[in-house]
Amino acid sequence: MRLEAEVASLCASLGRNPQEITIVAVSKNRGVGEVREVLAAGISDIGENRVQEALLKYNELRTMNHELRTIKWHMVGHLQSNKVKDAVRIFDLIQSVDSLRLAEEIDKQAARINKIQDVMIEVKTSEEATKFGIAPDKTFELVNKIQQLKNIKISGLMTIAPLAEDPQEGRPYFRRLRDLLEEMNELRAMSYEPRTLSMGMSDDYRVAIEEGANMLRIGRAIFE
Ligand SMILES: *Cc1c(COP(=O)(O)O)cnc(C)c1O
Repeated sequence: MRLEAEVASLCASLGRNPQEITIVAVSKNRGVGEVREVLAAGISDIGENRVQEALLKYNELRTMNHELRTIKWHMVGHLQSNKVKDAVRIFDLIQSVDSLRLAEEIDKQAARINKIQDVMIEVKTSEEATKFGIAPDKTFELVNKIQQLKNIKISGLMTIAPLAEDPQEGRPYFRRLRDLLEEMNELRAMSYEPRTLSMGMSDDYRVAIEEGANMLRIGRAIFE
């Protein structure tokens, strides 16, 4: 895949190990056929932004006898409380947790099925553009409270940079997220050190990698 080659060559120039970067193929608005193509090309992480749509593809792949265990499903869009039950059932990682209320509902549903739900905290690193996400200065407080829930594990932070003509404009937001995670770990905000920085999309993943991203969420650059 062209994208993987690009990520590898960029990593080489930065002295980073490409193996530490997970590419999540965001397949929203794409059919199951296209999802199967990227799986066949070696991608194992699939991202969706709506629970309903993800569920359809999940079920369709299951009826095709696709080896579902080999797929890691990521929820990357805003999650409503009434969809949490289904989300917890199918997603390996929910990247968009931005409130205690949502975390509590996830915890409750995960407890019901004896699951420890892996999540990330979505941080609103910019004033404009994104509607969702917790403010950077409120992140520690949220993380502290979520840490007390038994059926949730926080594996890192996620952010969406504002839409921009020039991908370089995303840099300060990516840097902000990286600094926040470093600060969290330095201050031992949690009993372990979450490591995942989910940042960078089709237009700005190069800049995100330069700023330390180790999880990319890519739609168009894979499917178009
Ligand atoms: C759609 C989407 C992406 C991928 O966007 P592209 O620009 O197509 O790469 C990444 N993250 C989220 C949250 C999305 O909704």
